[in-house]
Amino acid sequence: MSAFDAIVVGLGGMGGAAAAHLAARGHRVLGVEQFQPAHSEGSSHGKSRVIRLAYFEDPAYVPLLRRSYELWRRLERDTGRRLLQITGGLMIGAPDSEVVTGSLRSAREHDLDHEMLDAAEIHRRFPPFTPPPGVVALYEHDAGVVFPEEAIRAHLDVAVKHAAELRFDERVEDWRVLPSGSIEVRTSHSRYDCGRLVLAPGAWAASLFKIDGLPLEVEPQMLYWFVPAGGAAQFAPNRFPIYIWDIGNGVQFYGFPADDEQRVKVAFFRSAKIDEASMRGALEPYLPALARGRRVDAVSCKYTLTPDRHFVIGLHPHHPNVVVASPCSGHGYKFASVIGEILADLATSGATGHPIGLFAPSRFSVN
Ligand SMILES: Cc1cc2nc3c(=O)[nH]c(=O)nc-3n(C[C@H](O)[C@H](O)[C@H](O)COP(=O)(O)OP(=O)(O)OC[C@H]3O[C@@H](n4cnc5c(N)ncnc54)[C@H](O)[C@@H]3O)c2cc1C
Repeated sequence: MSAFDAIVVGLGGMGGAAAAHLAARGHRVLGVEQFQPAHSEGSSHGKSRVIRLAYFEDPAYVPLLRRSYELWRRLERDTGRRLLQITGGLMIGAPDSEVVTGSLRSAREHDLDHEMLDAAEIHRRFPPFTPPPGVVALYEHDAGVVFPEEAIRAHLDVAVKHAAELRFDERVEDWRVLPSGSIEVRTSHSRYDCGRLVLAPGAWAASLFKIDGLPLEVEPQMLYWFVPAGGAAQFAPNRFPIYIWDIGNGVQFYGFPADDEQRVKVAFFRSAKIDEASMRGALEPYLPALARGRRVDAVSCKYTLTPDRHFVIGLHPHHPNVVVASPCSGHGYKFASVIGEILADLATSGATGHPIGLFAPSRFSVN
């Protein structure tokens, strides 16, 4: 018998959630992480992540989001940690932009509570925004912020509470399926064996997945924090929502209300190599108080992108007892709670009741 029912590789956003769900179901779990909990070398740091329901990327995400909200709330209750801040959210752009049309489609298909605002109304309700005439926004009340570092700690708390063994500063070097069917995992410190393996290594997926032809590209992305010109009062979370602004030609930027230190975070969505001057220039017509603000921090974070920007979640094409997860493409964090549940389903029964067809590794020509 294997020493562990399941080993989870990578205890970031997704692996931490998988370890929590597996351990809570009574499985003997080992989690291995190459750094410390909630470190800043991967994809899950930077203090805040957008969460929203009217999903412009595809309406198929909405049922997952509903479950994700439920599980975040449950995790808050179970751990006493504050993980969500509901601020409302604006999906802004030209009426025919991807962000506006896609959000509206999801809202209509799933009967989501929303309002459409014109440029004047956007500015009236949220004065820091200065949208040009013709711009519109879908406003949803349930959007807001997830706190990623805190959420990772919460999942790890749950895993430990249910007797998972977690090893930090230990790197997984390789894994292989033995003739007996169990899986051997070799790390920088030791060798372990298990019945099921969950690989959730974030930006390090390409080498650990061992799936030829899986098109994963890692890109650094910059996050900026400004203290707005004129102060942060108009950016307070009870007055200012999260937003994604589609400015055309596939370019989108997004941001958050002020944090507890009165700093306002802003970033480009899937646009690498944005320096501070380009960020200020891009913001000037739309959020002048930020464009002219004082920069107080800047952090780089890694995206792992697929060509269609949907996640990779499923069973390994050659090893049905190995589960692979690369739910990033710049928008995965909000799903971490439900993805933990999905990964636990896949690891224990090889299937899940959640709709994950969009994420099949086999949609690419892999072998
Ligand atoms: C700048 C930026 C902004 C984003 N904004 C949003 C947003 O607003 N909303 C949203 O929903 N999503 C957002 N995302 C996406 C989201 O953050 C990611 O989808 C999520 O963080 C991915 O989690 P992960 O568990 O796959 O990766 P990580 O959290 O990085 O975890 C992977 C872990 O595996 C470990 N690991 C790797 N290899 C090994 C090994 N060999 N041995 C041991 N451990 C290993 C790593 O150290 C790491 O801890 C954003 C991402 C970035 C980078």
